[in-house]
Amino acid sequence: MDDSKVIDGKKIASEIRLAVKELGQSFIKKTSITPGLAVVLVGENPASNVYVRNKIKQTKEVGFVSIEHRLPEDVSEEKLLDLIETLNKKTSVNGILVQLPLPKHINADKVLDKIFSSKDVDGFHAKNVGKLWSGLDSLVPCTPLGCSIIIKRIFNDLSGKKAVIIGRSNIVGKPMAALLLKLNATVTFVHSRTQDIEAICKTADVLVAAVGVPKMVKASWVKEKSVVIDVGINRIEENGKKKLVGDVDYHEVIKVASLITPVPGGIGPMTIACLLLNTLRAAHTQNNLPEPDLTSLFN
Ligand code: NDP
Repeated sequence: MDDSKVIDGKKIASEIRLAVKELGQSFIKKTSITPGLAVVLVGENPASNVYVRNKIKQTKEVGFVSIEHRLPEDVSEEKLLDLIETLNKKTSVNGILVQLPLPKHINADKVLDKIFSSKDVDGFHAKNVGKLWSGLDSLVPCTPLGCSIIIKRIFNDLSGKKAVIIGRSNIVGKPMAALLLKLNATVTFVHSRTQDIEAICKTADVLVAAVGVPKMVKASWVKEKSVVIDVGINRIEENGKKKLVGDVDYHEVIKVASLITPVPGGIGPMTIACLLLNTLRAAHTQNNLPEPDLTSLFN
């Protein structure tokens, strides 16, 4: 396999975390405030547990304060909303993240909307979504932000290039499109109701797969020399072994693409690094400081 084609998300994420740590230290020096990130986990979803554990660990590693709230699966929506209100009011909390998915009896939109948009480090609040689509500065969802940092490092500008996104979720697909438009790409979505997905994907200079179907994207779907970003995280069993795979048939697609993100080690680590980046940005804004200079991360 040609390793030069593999985009090392782990390495780029560690560069981002280092920058966040350094910028965080100068923020603490200036303000005597240590940025704080509150993570709220409802229930015992094993995958969510792993994500939350990693988020907490990395928050501490960059020198921020991690505040953890674990609520039982049957917690009422009202209690969760009360907790968000308390966290909104706390000046020591700069970012609030409610780990999704939430149990069915809780209205996730209502919960996300309750978070102050200035503390919405996941970028899911309607105000931040509107700002993103209006081209205004906002807190941007972490996974697509991580993808766009990688894409910008490769292309800087996507004028004249075609980008295809598989998936139209609020968490990944839609914000990804806004970010690709910002980079001047011509953007197309495909989803479960699209006909002839393969032919549309084949036109892409940049293909982003955010579907949740293991190894769906085959080599025949991919244009020669394109860049393939695999957001998918799927737990499968192969030859009696449990493993993580993406939405892209990695070992086949790498033969066609010019660059590809692996799973694991691609977009996953970028997502957490961008969460810390958003927390740092939120801490600056809440304390009326100019945004830290992040241009080096995109180059
Ligand atoms: P959703 O389930 O919310 O959205 C999936 C999207 O894929 C939908 O738009 C759906 O279409 C589309 N889709 C589903 N099946 C098909 C199909 N057979 N053909 C074409 N389109 C299809 O998922 P998310 O966006 O939240 O996540 C997508 C993947 O990314 C998952 O594997 C998830 O685990 C992973 N993920 C990874 C993260 C990371 O940190 N790396 C973070 C977030 C997610 P329709 O809208 O028509 O239903």
